[in-house]
Amino acid sequence: MKLTIALSKGRIFEETLPLLAAAGIQPAEDPESSRKLVIDTNHEHVKLVIVRASDVPTYVQYGAADLGIAGRDVLIEHGGDGLYQPLDLNIARCKMMVAVSNDFDYEAAVKHGARLKIATKYPQIAREHFARKGVHVDIIKLYGSMELAPLVGLADAIVDLVSTGNTLKANNLQAVEHILDISSRLVVNQAALKLKYSTIQPVLDAFASAVPA
Ligand code: AMP
Repeated sequence: MKLTIALSKGRIFEETLPLLAAAGIQPAEDPESSRKLVIDTNHEHVKLVIVRASDVPTYVQYGAADLGIAGRDVLIEHGGDGLYQPLDLNIARCKMMVAVSNDFDYEAAVKHGARLKIATKYPQIAREHFARKGVHVDIIKLYGSMELAPLVGLADAIVDLVSTGNTLKANNLQAVEHILDISSRLVVNQAALKLKYSTIQPVLDAFASAVPA
């Protein structure tokens, strides 16, 4: 039975290779060097589709892919409709943080009840975080390089993913609040899981056995 797996290029793809190998699946090409969006594997009926990270849940939700791998950040922003999320793969780990310019006194601004401008690619996560804290915010949605926003006066703070912290440091920013630990999860189309159970379940089991500690 045919199986389609949605993946994004870069870190998620690299860190998914050992999990695919555990399930006996080997991509025929490297999406970094190939321009192909549909990648064949050593199994005639298993294909990988290479999509933007934030589009993975959508492809799986509508059944264009049976399985996918997406970050917790992306899944929260998507909402998770139609997706079964059986497994935290513990890959592409990082943290969702609030960060400000080194010369901005975040604590004082919060204490004084200032209304903060927050630039982010993750409006849902940011809105929930500040609502929980009781801080009034204006969310400014960006699609890239949030680190620039506080430097040019577009925002007081950003909500972004932090891994090594090097990007913040290089731009004179510092993390002031931890919101969530992020890692990538396996998502499965709910209808596909029922209809293709005998094909999908062994892949889920193999992934589960190969999750890094
Ligand atoms: P770093 O300099 O290592 O802290 O990386 C920060 C930059 O990489 C930011 O622009 C983040 O948006 C991005 N980033 C870090 N970790 C991840 C991840 N797991 N998934 C997607 N983007 C990430």
